[in-house]
Amino acid sequence: MRITNENIFQTYSRYPVTLVRGKGTKVWDERGKEYLDFLSGIAVCNLGHCHPAVVRAAQAQMKKLIHVSNFFYTEPQAELARLLTGNSFADQVFFCNSGAEANESALKLARKFSLQQGNQNRYEVITMHYSFHGRTFATLSATAQKKFHAGFEPLLPGFRYVPFNDAGALKKAVNKNTCAVLLEPIQGEGGVNCPDDDYLKKVRKVCDEHGLLLIFDEVQVGMGRTGKLFAYQHYGVEPDIMTLAKALAGGLPAGAMLAKKHVAESFSPGSHASTFGGNPVCMAAGVAVMEILLHGTVLENCRSMGTYFMQGLESLKQRYPSIIKVVRGKGLIIGMELNIEGKEIVSTCLKQGIIINCTLDKILRFLPPLIVKKQEIDRCLKMLESIFAKL
Ligand code: PLP
Repeated sequence: MRITNENIFQTYSRYPVTLVRGKGTKVWDERGKEYLDFLSGIAVCNLGHCHPAVVRAAQAQMKKLIHVSNFFYTEPQAELARLLTGNSFADQVFFCNSGAEANESALKLARKFSLQQGNQNRYEVITMHYSFHGRTFATLSATAQKKFHAGFEPLLPGFRYVPFNDAGALKKAVNKNTCAVLLEPIQGEGGVNCPDDDYLKKVRKVCDEHGLLLIFDEVQVGMGRTGKLFAYQHYGVEPDIMTLAKALAGGLPAGAMLAKKHVAESFSPGSHASTFGGNPVCMAAGVAVMEILLHGTVLENCRSMGTYFMQGLESLKQRYPSIIKVVRGKGLIIGMELNIEGKEIVSTCLKQGIIINCTLDKILRFLPPLIVKKQEIDRCLKMLESIFAKL
């Protein structure tokens, strides 16, 4: 901890815990203390820590080939692209290393596509209040939360912000310069905000009427987190572009931008690139993740455990109405909005061996691995109950 505090940029407020090992839903610190992980490395370890199939795939690939440049073809990259396009709206994939890079790619593609349609000044993108799209300059500018902008202005021009879940406001914000709409189907960092059932359909309609690209950022809610492979599949709407990262490679760094072919074709050799994007080891891990999500019972478990957890949290809300304002979510991304600050509750949980998270000061966020069991959810509910009872 001393070295970390002295020799690493202090960009994170870390808990005084050094983690050394993980397996399934659990992690252990250097003293051997066990924690139930209801954060999953912020929605990354969807299959749990060190899933044996992911470890096997990455190890086998490491022995064969760790890295080559994208001047060459590799099998794991092709296989992951086949699985992603074969199970989504998309025809083509661009691989990168993180969520911010995937969104950066999507923003560049939207501008290029617009230009190739013959629209000289159509470069603006509309995004939503309380969105989160990353920390690079373009994705920071797309993120409509002032606290992340502070100290970094001037931001990249070309972004307009409207309230989430308000198709009327979106319609009004479209002008002759707009080329795309970028949004998270369910907002994660912004407080686990779910759309009304028909909102995304209305957004699609606005995009179709004005010839705008619809971009879904599924960096946090994709890869099974909501109980379907991709969150958009709940709402009967398809985007033109989608971004993924976080859980894509089971804990190894990988990001992806997926698009329909006529949009993807705006990029040609030299338009965009990434040295590590599509790295064979990460891709092999991604293939293992996809196979499990497609053929196992993980999505089913996510749906049933999501319902069970939500019911338990709802019943806590009935018992502690002065503390708990609302519970919301889908599958295993669940937010519990409190009337009080959540920081202390997160610390108490950690001391008692459960890792949870708080976003926007008052919203407890639960992102357990999708393989979580009933007894583990019961343990979390019991712990929350004991904390609320003492408040
Ligand atoms: N988009 C969403 C919806 C996210 O939740 C995040 C990270 O939390 C990002 C983008 C940025 O991803 P990364 O941290 O991998 O750059």
